[in-house]
Amino acid sequence: MKAELTVPHARIGGIEVFLLDAGTFRLDGGAMFRVVPKVIWEKRCPADSQNRILLGMRPLLVRAEDGSWVLVESGIGARRRDPKFIEMFDVREGEGLLASLARADVKPEEISKVVVTHMHFDHVGGVVEAPEGTKGPRLHRFPNAKLVVQRGELEDSGAGCDLCKASYVQDDWKALADAGSLEVVDGDREIAPGVRVEKTGGHTRHHQIVRFSSGGEEGVFWGDLIPTSAHIRPHYVMAYDLYPIECWEKKKELVERAVSGKWVSVFYHDPVSPLGRVARDGRDFKVEEVSP
Ligand SMILES: [Zn+2]
Repeated sequence: MKAELTVPHARIGGIEVFLLDAGTFRLDGGAMFRVVPKVIWEKRCPADSQNRILLGMRPLLVRAEDGSWVLVESGIGARRRDPKFIEMFDVREGEGLLASLARADVKPEEISKVVVTHMHFDHVGGVVEAPEGTKGPRLHRFPNAKLVVQRGELEDSGAGCDLCKASYVQDDWKALADAGSLEVVDGDREIAPGVRVEKTGGHTRHHQIVRFSSGGEEGVFWGDLIPTSAHIRPHYVMAYDLYPIECWEKKKELVERAVSGKWVSVFYHDPVSPLGRVARDGRDFKVEEVSP
């Protein structure tokens, strides 16, 4: 039995999920809430002197129905970033991805797949590392894992469209592509027993979420479709969302199902309530704790 009790976790039928800690960073609060007025959002997400709000990065470790280990998202790769980047986004390493993985008693070599919802630097940045004190070569942190990515997302992240290129850093994942360590998927696909990716679009054209289904229970890792529990309401979309109407429509449909089906929900960027079940709270929503 793995030493699971010190890491926040939940069961979804025969699947277990464990919340890891890849640190925090900050983004402009106005950009995170788009048309929502500051007087509303700052009650839940207080801004610092530069109007930035705190965002977590909580990759999810998943034990699929067959016992295989899947990792969803990887953090920002804090140790590879230059001081200007660290300061601009106030990047803090927190416990660190590998340290929290070790606390779950799982070795990097045991991970068979790493899924990213999309290729932005705060999601895929933790899949490679550079040898201590050097700028290269880039090494796969999870040597036996394939990186699961939507084909369209891979194309967009490589092509560097003008509007979106600031959020893609090819150095984050190029070494894996060169080594043949990508598992490129088109649309919805089961990637391990009980674990599947579903393409949603919205945040990026080919953004995907991860859905869990086992023993009559359901769960979801929302990625940047719903980055924090303060973004559950369908019209709470971000200025960073390239296709905001798609986000709105997808959220409307899926949140309804998540509430009625009591899905276990994971909010990657939520610094306070990253794991729980979404329930109605008047016109708003709340996240109720799950008992493991
Ligand atoms: Zn993000």
